[in-house]
Amino acid sequence: MFQSFLIKYAEIGLKGKNRYVFEDALALEIRRKLKQVEGEFQVSRINGRIYVEVEGDYDYDETMAALKKVFGVNGISPVSHIMNKTPEGICQAAVAFIGENYQDRHFTFKVDTRRANKAYPVPSMEMDALVGEAILEAYPETKVDVHHPEVLLHIELRDQIFMYSKTIKGAGGLPLGTNGRALLLLSGGFDSPVAGYMVAKRGVRLDAVYFNAPPYTSDRAKQKVIDLSKVLSEYCGEIHLHIINFTDIQMAIYEKCPHDELTIIMRRYMMRIAEHIARESQECLGLVTGESIGQVASQTMKSLFVTDEPCTIPVYRPLIGFDKQEIIDRAEEIGTAPISILPYEDCCTIFVAKHPVTKPNLNVIKASEKNLNTVIEDLLEKAYESDEVVIIGEQRG
Ligand code: ATP
Ligand code: MG
Repeated sequence: MFQSFLIKYAEIGLKGKNRYVFEDALALEIRRKLKQVEGEFQVSRINGRIYVEVEGDYDYDETMAALKKVFGVNGISPVSHIMNKTPEGICQAAVAFIGENYQDRHFTFKVDTRRANKAYPVPSMEMDALVGEAILEAYPETKVDVHHPEVLLHIELRDQIFMYSKTIKGAGGLPLGTNGRALLLLSGGFDSPVAGYMVAKRGVRLDAVYFNAPPYTSDRAKQKVIDLSKVLSEYCGEIHLHIINFTDIQMAIYEKCPHDELTIIMRRYMMRIAEHIARESQECLGLVTGESIGQVASQTMKSLFVTDEPCTIPVYRPLIGFDKQEIIDRAEEIGTAPISILPYEDCCTIFVAKHPVTKPNLNVIKASEKNLNTVIEDLLEKAYESDEVVIIGEQRG
């Protein structure tokens, strides 16, 4: 059984004077996440490292799953504490540790001792040799390889003495809350949830907006977006999901604009409304969307140029260079794929033209939008009023 976890973080080590800000944010995020796990956890920062100590019973898998969802954590090493601090005690503990954690012991290994407590009577090299011998004797099938060991057993001689040999990969990135907030345009597909994840991974908190088109889209399509937000909130904490009724605007575009321009005009209105919500919140400093160049007609360079044009705040498209398969792989990894794959219609699939323009001309599109002049202000106002905010995930703060 492991009594603590050593948290490894790479990038925040590079932040100079800001380092403490990042470490505090990371410790805070780890505490927040572990609140959802049964057990008593103590998160502490010691000598530029973060430790999670466990008191009493806890569920290893649940704890590991929670830690893997904290941005800023690069690796998680489960640590065994050694009670008998004599050199013999440490050797016995090492043998037991290998016995418990490795069923097949046909491996090469190396012992790496760090003597942070210089008062400890045995120097680190000597300890490496003692423990190495003990392991070789207990498990003759093992072999020492000091250059490329398959198992690297770390022993740390501090006030406490502990050992670990495995590092489980974390989510990486930067701790949430170190980089402001953005508004994600979240639809039910594979792309936008992954786009949100990618931005959140850099320390950005998320809110989201979904354009709903009842009765053309079903409640199940809306539920799908709520469920996707729930998966995202496991990484991102609380998300305010704005659900906007987009039906009237879509109908007006359908009635008054050329059908091959429907998608692009609709996307431009989505961007305008999203910008309005972002600005109202006074917190969201950018929009996030799930496009990648050339994926579909509305995502050619020309289409993106026209889609972006109404926006005056930054639009982040973290998937811009991803292939579809890379996006799906990532969606599998983070857990959004099983929801994204459900077939419910969304507003884009309902009114889609048979042959949408792939090379829209901005002036032509703007001229078509003029057809909406008499109604659009009212319709936008109604859309803003329709905003239903669903609060997803645990409370902020
Ligand atoms: P996704 O897989 O995210 O659904 P997509 O491949 O279907 O994307 P488009 O339909 O071209 O792509 O939409 C591009 C982006 O616009 C989406 O990634 C998303 O950010 C945003 N978007 C599209 N439809 C909606 C919607 N109904 N509500 C909110 N955002 C939307
Ligand atoms: Mg879509």
